[in-house]
Amino acid sequence: MNDISKKRTGNLISIQDSLVKARFFDDVIMGETAEISVDGKFLQAEVLQILPDPKNADAGIVEMQVFEDLTGAKIGDEVVFKGTPLSVLLGPGLLTSVWDGLQNPLYKLSEEDAYLKPGMNAPALDEEALWDFTPIVNVGDTVAGGDVIGTVPEGKVDHKILVPFSFGPCKVESIIEKCSVNITQQVAIVIDEQGNKHELKLAFRQPVKSPIPFKDRAIPTKPISTGVRVIDLLAPVGYGGTVGNPGPFGAGKTVLQHSLCKYAVADIIVMAACGERAGEAVEVFKEFAELEDPTTGESLMKRMCIFGNTSSMPVAAREASVFIALTVGEYYRYQGKKVVMLADSTSRWAQALRERSGRQGDIPGPEAFPMDIPDQIKGMYQRAGEDLGTGGSLTFIGTVSPAGGNFQEPVTQATMDATGGFWGLSQDRADAKKYPAIDPLVYTTSVYDGFVSWKDRQKMLTTLNEANDIDQTISTIGLKKVPVSNYIQYQKGLTIDFCVMQQDAFEKTDACTRPERLEIINEATQNLIDNTIDFQVGDLDDEQLKELIKHKFDELRQWWRDWNYSAKTEEELAKLPKAVDKFILQEEYAV
Ligand code: ADP
Ligand code: MG
Repeated sequence: MNDISKKRTGNLISIQDSLVKARFFDDVIMGETAEISVDGKFLQAEVLQILPDPKNADAGIVEMQVFEDLTGAKIGDEVVFKGTPLSVLLGPGLLTSVWDGLQNPLYKLSEEDAYLKPGMNAPALDEEALWDFTPIVNVGDTVAGGDVIGTVPEGKVDHKILVPFSFGPCKVESIIEKCSVNITQQVAIVIDEQGNKHELKLAFRQPVKSPIPFKDRAIPTKPISTGVRVIDLLAPVGYGGTVGNPGPFGAGKTVLQHSLCKYAVADIIVMAACGERAGEAVEVFKEFAELEDPTTGESLMKRMCIFGNTSSMPVAAREASVFIALTVGEYYRYQGKKVVMLADSTSRWAQALRERSGRQGDIPGPEAFPMDIPDQIKGMYQRAGEDLGTGGSLTFIGTVSPAGGNFQEPVTQATMDATGGFWGLSQDRADAKKYPAIDPLVYTTSVYDGFVSWKDRQKMLTTLNEANDIDQTISTIGLKKVPVSNYIQYQKGLTIDFCVMQQDAFEKTDACTRPERLEIINEATQNLIDNTIDFQVGDLDDEQLKELIKHKFDELRQWWRDWNYSAKTEEELAKLPKAVDKFILQEEYAV
């Protein structure tokens, strides 16, 4: 029987990058965490394997991955086993926070300088901040894991204080009155069925590798307004849905994630910046602190928390950061919140797994990833979902950065299998500065009912497809041989692509399109698709006529693009369908 209450220790016998081995004489538990003391610092590690010691029958050897920088570690350094799995501290104060992959706070909004410092062993959540606690259970009530005992306002979010999920049925022995408390103070005492007393506080630790359960899991159907037209029109994601967003370097994955952070209609955004440039993470929290949340009008950071495990930080912590972020997302889902979790990039996460399994000497699978990488990826995305029991949802959108933009590689393939939606970014579109570079002809979605009807979506796609085919024909046999009617169809496709699919993430008005505006755009688009247009004036030959058609469509595209950038009032918005009506009749529409 393991006695994990007494101090159990070991000593390092080998150090190989982030993988270390230690000899121990007590019991050790698979997956438990440990601290390695190096020059007075305590580095966090996790037990991966327990092996017999070939040299000493009384001892054993553990293999551990270390999440922090091992500089200065020596053979013989002491390891203390903690008896608990990798976990995250959950409670009020999560929002507005920025941590590294191990929940060490990196940056406080009050500080002027945004600077990423390595783990400092500071408390994960502010221990001094006071929260207005309102109890909602009474002495004598029976509660169990996940039940709400009270609430505190966390900014605009009504943060529910839960009984830790590991608890069985308990009786409330005492609970404080409505008052201000910090996360270190006791708010209630409960007694379990064995008669043991437990103290409850505003915050508790939760293991990150096993999911927080659903009450009543549902298939996601309600689309999220992301503000990104090509997504909301063609590839909508539902509350609780999953999306893989692969794209080559520079194709716009990070810009897209930032747009989603800003504009996706959700209560809470959890971001795992995983293995990407530190500068990008710093930009986010500098910029987002100043930006307004479209739903509350407050600073965007008030609905966000960020786990920044950037390329300069220890690789092993990337693995932890994604699990920690997921657990935070599940915690808020359990409170009934609509959470969107963004991970950029899951390829860097998978690389951490690859490095680890390589060091452990596992038999490698395709491209040296661990054999079970598809299961690990599936396991991660499966934690997303909608919960009808709580009314909350956790949506998971992960970027994938395959080398050379090759979607055939194992992580992209496994992601496509695991996710309901797929937003593939195209190198060609990015090269042509057609942003966002989601290829409108290469995507999937699991949400049938988007913001426009299925029929309208199909018509848009058909036009884009036809335009694509005609484009190919033009480049193989030349424009001359293409009939005028086909050329008009081609120009219609170009217009939908340029004015609807493409969107400038850096232009205030264009950056976000809400459903009302989308409806107006859809109306104009359908009108353009449905109607034939007679461009003939006088007696132009085919060549001259095509010239004129191109000119007319160029004018329309310019006008429409200006409308995208400027139309704000209802009156201005209404101009688009009118303009397209007039364009179809070839009447003056410029105002
Ligand atoms: P990735 O993360 O895929 O490597 P980024 O998101 O950093 O690529 O995008 C690279 C560059 O492409 C950006 O710095 C920006 O200039 C441009 N870009 C990407 N998406 C957009 C967009 N929607 N609107 C305008 N520019 C964009
Ligand atoms: Mg990026």
